[in-house]
Amino acid sequence: MMRVKAEVDLSAIAANISHIKSQTNAQLLAVVKADAYGHGLVPVAEAAINAGASWLGVALLEEALVLRAAGLRAPIIAWLTPPGSDFVTALKNGVDISIPSIALFNEVLSAGEVTGITPRIHVEVDTGMSRGGFLGEWPEFLEILVMNSKKIHLVGFWSHFARADEPKESATATQLARFKELLLQLRAAGLRPDHCHLANSAATLTNAETHFDLVRVGIAMYGLSPDVETLGSSRELGLLPAMVLKAKLNLVKSVRAGSSVGYGGTAIVKVDTKLGVVAMGYADGIPRNTSSAAHVLVAGELAPVIGRVSMDQFVVDLGINSTAQSGDWVTVFGLADNSADQWASASGTINYEIVTRIGPRVPRIYLR
Ligand SMILES: *Cc1c(COP(=O)(O)O)cnc(C)c1O
Repeated sequence: MMRVKAEVDLSAIAANISHIKSQTNAQLLAVVKADAYGHGLVPVAEAAINAGASWLGVALLEEALVLRAAGLRAPIIAWLTPPGSDFVTALKNGVDISIPSIALFNEVLSAGEVTGITPRIHVEVDTGMSRGGFLGEWPEFLEILVMNSKKIHLVGFWSHFARADEPKESATATQLARFKELLLQLRAAGLRPDHCHLANSAATLTNAETHFDLVRVGIAMYGLSPDVETLGSSRELGLLPAMVLKAKLNLVKSVRAGSSVGYGGTAIVKVDTKLGVVAMGYADGIPRNTSSAAHVLVAGELAPVIGRVSMDQFVVDLGINSTAQSGDWVTVFGLADNSADQWASASGTINYEIVTRIGPRVPRIYLR
């Protein structure tokens, strides 16, 4: 029946969480935005909490509400809630809101007044990434926050690193220093957040000074390296990739040397060979511009991608002696020789994107 599947090993996620927790005294916030980086929001969130994560983090309010509807009770922070978001529903569901602007603070205050529920907020400051968080509005906001401090619960104070995956760059130290300076200003104004959080996976794995009392871990929990070049591979970091992506061979056929493969004729086979047509394409999240540096595993043998990826299929070179048959399962990416890291470098992107873009046509199968 099945054409494709993504096997997600929840015990690998649990092992990764234990391994990360052994490297910090801080609590762990499991980042499960974007359908848990493609691994499946609710099953991953449950596995993470059972493995010792005490917080959940998502981008969208919708994602937080799915977690609450599934019965998850851990604190949840949503950090991408534009003006006009339904903060009344957020408060009724006990979702913590990140505050990056005075406008958003005012909306959340109003929702607090409407519901009679004290908003739980995390103040986000921009320490050098020029993305989310307070920058120019900060001094004015600090006064507004002091005036309204009784109407909110200041749960968190946080920021985000731009270059924590490059340990030799000074940018991280600069951001950390700025964070501490802003925290002192907050304290000098008489405000005490319950938690401070700054570290992503890369900072959690490499720089204990950034941990404070809570670390926000995404990619490492899924068993992938934040940056293979600078920090080493999954294996070198002691992490187990949790997702193995599989697809069936739709067809196996022999072709002559000189045959051109796929749209645009971008690849020509050099010698007589057998090609396998894999029943998965860019509609499933496989990047279209994937070079022959990407491989699938067919009965334990590596077979390179050949030609451009189509919407629902792509072609691999099985070699003349292959005994593969149509209907056989192949591993598109998995653990070692055909990892998400290799697919990332073969298509000019990062492992984060490779797993996150696997689409809804691919059923997730959970191994426990
Ligand atoms: C995605 C995200 C993280 C997790 O980053 P990783 O590099 O995957 O660990 C942490 N914090 C915020 C605000 C994020 O958006």
